[in-house]
Amino acid sequence: MATASFRSGAVGRGGVKADTITNRTSSINSAPKSSFKSKSSAPPQNSGLRRNSTGSVATSTKERGGVSGRVRVAVRLRPRNAEEMVADTDFADCVELQPELKRLNLRRNNWDTDTYEFDEVLTEFASQKRVYEAVAKPVVENVLDGYNGTVMAYGQTGTGKTYTLGRLGEEDTADRGIMVRAMEDILAEISLVTETVSVSYLQLYMESIQDLLDPANGNVSIVEDPKTGDISLPGATVMEIRDQKSFLDLLQLGEAHRIAANTILNTESSRSHAILMVHVKRSVKGRDSALSTEHGPSHLAKTFKQPVVRRSKLAVVDLAGSERISKSGSEAHTLEEAKSINLSLTALGKCINALAENSNHVPVRDSKLTRLLRDSFGGTARTSLVITIGPSPRHRGETASTIMFGKRAMKVENMLKTKEEFDYKGLSRRLDIQLDKLIAEHESQQKAFQDEIERIAQEAQKRISEAERNHDVLLESERMKYEKEYLDAIQKLEQQWETSQGKHEKVGVNDSNNTEKFNQEPNDLGVTEDIAEIKRLLQNETLLRKAAEEEISDLKNQIAQWQRSEAVRSTEILKLQKMLEDETRKKKRLEEQITILQNQLLQSNFEVDEARRNLDGGGTTELPSDLDSPLPLICQQLRDSEEEKASMEKLFEQVGLQKILSLLESEDADVRIHAVKVLANLAAEVTNQVKIVKAGGLTSLLAILRSSSDETIHRVAAGALANLAMNETNQELIMSQGGIRLLSVTATNAQDPQTLRMVAGAIANLCGNDKLQIKLRGEGGIRALVGMVKCKHPDVLAQVARGIANFAKCESRAYIQGTKSGKSLLIEDGAMPWIIQNASNEASHIRRHIELALCHIAQHEVNAKDMISGGALWELVRISRNCSREDIRTLAYHTLTSSKSFQAELKRLRVDYG
Ligand code: ADP
Ligand code: MG
Repeated sequence: MATASFRSGAVGRGGVKADTITNRTSSINSAPKSSFKSKSSAPPQNSGLRRNSTGSVATSTKERGGVSGRVRVAVRLRPRNAEEMVADTDFADCVELQPELKRLNLRRNNWDTDTYEFDEVLTEFASQKRVYEAVAKPVVENVLDGYNGTVMAYGQTGTGKTYTLGRLGEEDTADRGIMVRAMEDILAEISLVTETVSVSYLQLYMESIQDLLDPANGNVSIVEDPKTGDISLPGATVMEIRDQKSFLDLLQLGEAHRIAANTILNTESSRSHAILMVHVKRSVKGRDSALSTEHGPSHLAKTFKQPVVRRSKLAVVDLAGSERISKSGSEAHTLEEAKSINLSLTALGKCINALAENSNHVPVRDSKLTRLLRDSFGGTARTSLVITIGPSPRHRGETASTIMFGKRAMKVENMLKTKEEFDYKGLSRRLDIQLDKLIAEHESQQKAFQDEIERIAQEAQKRISEAERNHDVLLESERMKYEKEYLDAIQKLEQQWETSQGKHEKVGVNDSNNTEKFNQEPNDLGVTEDIAEIKRLLQNETLLRKAAEEEISDLKNQIAQWQRSEAVRSTEILKLQKMLEDETRKKKRLEEQITILQNQLLQSNFEVDEARRNLDGGGTTELPSDLDSPLPLICQQLRDSEEEKASMEKLFEQVGLQKILSLLESEDADVRIHAVKVLANLAAEVTNQVKIVKAGGLTSLLAILRSSSDETIHRVAAGALANLAMNETNQELIMSQGGIRLLSVTATNAQDPQTLRMVAGAIANLCGNDKLQIKLRGEGGIRALVGMVKCKHPDVLAQVARGIANFAKCESRAYIQGTKSGKSLLIEDGAMPWIIQNASNEASHIRRHIELALCHIAQHEVNAKDMISGGALWELVRISRNCSREDIRTLAYHTLTSSKSFQAELKRLRVDYG
């Protein structure tokens, strides 16, 4: 049979196969940028294994435009081994290679051969280095560029898959295989300061994934992102690699664990698949930050490049021996083994066939291997396959089927894409550093400005006082000079006057009449001279005074000039102060930005956690318990802010619980509302709950719920009750004080969906108490819960669904303990139609609760008839096939296969199930 199918794809007598690639120049090394002009049968974008994914990506990640990339296939021939040397001496090898033509001739018989072309043909002499460069290096380079990559070896046991991929080359470095060489190239390329490389190492055997780095972890589950379709293994150990030595140690450790595990499982490694996952996280540099140019000061744009990280994965897969496909089912294996061992390998072959034939259905979900490798075939990864063959004519059939596998894989077209994420953490870290630097810079600048201002002021002061001093001294000396000159002049004049007086008297005595005229003349002459002298002195004096005045004005000018320069300095100081203020403003803006970013970071962390919680299924068949935990829904709902919370806490301390409780009965409606709010807030804290109940708060809350008609009070009080209903003792107290009836009435009268949400939350908590089941139902709890679905608000529906799941879980326990035997009270009270209607609700948390409830109810045969007539059977079948949580899926499957009624019905409807 193998021969027939193989023949149908071959052209006899050395002819080249019709479906070989036409573009011979494109070698296996081509980078993704080169587009392959292969046959137009390439599947369209987003088809193939990714066909079922929504194609949308999370808001913080960005896929860049895809490049088409066909799966590249190389064939490697192992040299004859010692046994073959002896056994096959008289026979020619069954293959002949023409590496230069990239052709392989497979001998059909003594006179006929079939010829096949591959992307690379590696002879028995090909070195490990050459094999690495031809097969893996281009993939590794793509991984470093941010693309996902796969390198896989396929072939019969003993043909060299592990030799090609896994050799450590410790004795002879020339022997190093693809894993070791790939890590060397990765470590050489990335910067360990800002980028990371980490690995997981896994073994897939009988559809169970074992962690080779942590042998205790024997069942790693596969999780699929519902939005992007990305596959991850959250349970697998991930080790960061910092140097080649630690990687080699890790590979050795993995190998040791593999041997140990296989001893325990009583198998050999050729029956299992080994998968090395290398995760590379790189930062992308070089593009300007859109964020900083849009929202931040422009100078930031220069400092920050867009903080983007690229995550990529390299998967190196050493597949189980290909002979397992044909041999599974033989007596060598148990039935179970035959089914599962190479379910994965068979499924891989089917997927590749479907993709090669461009078929509409690619059965990716059929096995764990194909789920794990959904990105490698028809996905976004760059994939390189090496098929290994031996030369012996005795294994010709096996060799032929390996070759056909390779040929089919060559037809699979991938669409390579990188995925970038915004690195909030990195940005926040860098902004922090930048901010600290700016703060320090500002501080030292401020200090320098102040020092400079002080210095200028001091100098100006010094110069002014110096000028003043100089001026005073000059003025004083001028004054003294003029005083002295003045005194001198006076003295001189006095002397002159005295002498002229003496002369005058003498002449008068000698000749008072005749000589009077005569003597009078020289005397007149003297006076005139004196006057002239005085005039001259006066002139002199005037000149000097003028000079002094000029000097004074000069000095005044100088002072004015000083004052002007002083003013200039003041404006300079003002300018500097303005600059300082500007910088302070910028700093504030930066701080605001950081706050925004930190909020975004928080939000995205929260979302990641949320997503992880939604996705992370437990590995056991036990029912997951995270769904029925009491909800702390009231805390965020009622508290307007942390500040308000703090002030309430304070109020509580200062005023005391009794006082708050007494305020519940206040005349003033506002006071009552406020008191209920305070109480509800306090009730959100587990530590306060005991105190509140002890002080009679529960009774007061029930009383106000009963007596008040105010919707706000109803909402807040119901919220407080929901919080208090988180522990068993309080649940019983609430029940014994008629709480359930009260909540039912409140629900009937409520208008606001949030009130209904609180009421439903409270009842849902009560539903989780094993002891209260009968009473809760007897007092109309279930009917009230189901009645609330009239309000279609998703928050309300989520609480209702949670309550139903809680109730169904308790009931299920009661059945098992033998304390319950009749039909489920949920069925009795008419919840089933709503359950079935919402079993495929698009909100995943609602759906999850309901799926769980259905599984619980279906486990008990008494409910089967009602479930079948209500249409629950189809929902269970759907859950067992499609539910994204493996544990729920398994539970649904077991329930269906172990129930006689369900089996009978499925048979009646001729549905082949189980
Ligand atoms: P597989 O993993 O496919 O079962 P192995 O890698 O374990 O095969 O190889 C089987 C044997 O053949 C080993 O002893 C290995 O050393 C040897 N061998 C495989 N390929 C080569 C090769 N290219 N050159 C030399 N020896 C090889
Ligand atoms: Mg092997």
